[in-house]
Amino acid sequence: LLQGSGINKSFGARGARRQVLFDVDVDVRAGECLAVIGGSGSGKTTLTRILLGLETADSGVVEYRGHNIAEGRQGLRMLREESGLVFQDPFSSLDPRWRVGSSVAEPLKLRRKKLPSAAVKQRVAEVLGLVGLDSATLGSRYPIDLSGGQAQRVAIARAIVAKPKVVLADEALSAIDVAVRVQILDAFAAIRRADPDMALIMVSHDLGVVRHIADRILVLHEGRVEESGPTARLLAHSQSAYTRRLIEAAS
Ligand code: ATP
Repeated sequence: LLQGSGINKSFGARGARRQVLFDVDVDVRAGECLAVIGGSGSGKTTLTRILLGLETADSGVVEYRGHNIAEGRQGLRMLREESGLVFQDPFSSLDPRWRVGSSVAEPLKLRRKKLPSAAVKQRVAEVLGLVGLDSATLGSRYPIDLSGGQAQRVAIARAIVAKPKVVLADEALSAIDVAVRVQILDAFAAIRRADPDMALIMVSHDLGVVRHIADRILVLHEGRVEESGPTARLLAHSQSAYTRRLIEAAS
């Protein structure tokens, strides 16, 4: 579905340039959950932002459904229309002036094919229900009246309302109270069940979360792919001393 090959990226002005990604190859398949893990500063966010077309690589190719997103407009346009984003701070993706119902409905209203307002309302209630929220009681609230866990579930509902083929969740559980983290994990599980073809890319430093939800793991170490493989195998029998250290540090 989404493929990056030979991705290199540096930041900083000439003289003080620092390379943060080195020849990274990554492949995200339809329907799977791929977790990107690695130490702080290993390039997880930069890599996933490049994959979603939010940042450009210095070299290398990103292909979405067979289209190079840097060539012509079609690939990037499709990717923009067919992707959803969830970030660490749920309040950052919700406009404080908008009620929950309007925030969740917005991606539908921006689409070229407009839906009748009754259908929009129905879809908003449907996705809020999927993430465990009641549209009748929460739809008219403002973000300030939501808990962190509720706000993150609203952000997830908003990210999936337009039926994306790929969703990026960057540390989406990190700012959430441990006691309600399971609700967010359940919300992700529910949206995957509702659309088995949707791919989910999860950046996380929490291996408990990763173990629970990911089908495959990509380990980044100082901007390079350390290894990748199916979750259970990689966590139980990693070939890499770096990955084993990450796993030990988390347990
Ligand atoms: P963390 O787990 O701490 O969020 P990460 O693995 O997601 O880290 P990135 O956020 O991708 O890592 O950052 C990789 C490196 O690139 C870091 O050293 C960071 O300081 C640097 N970096 C990221 N974005 C920028 C930017 N816009 N300008 C300059 N440097 C940047």
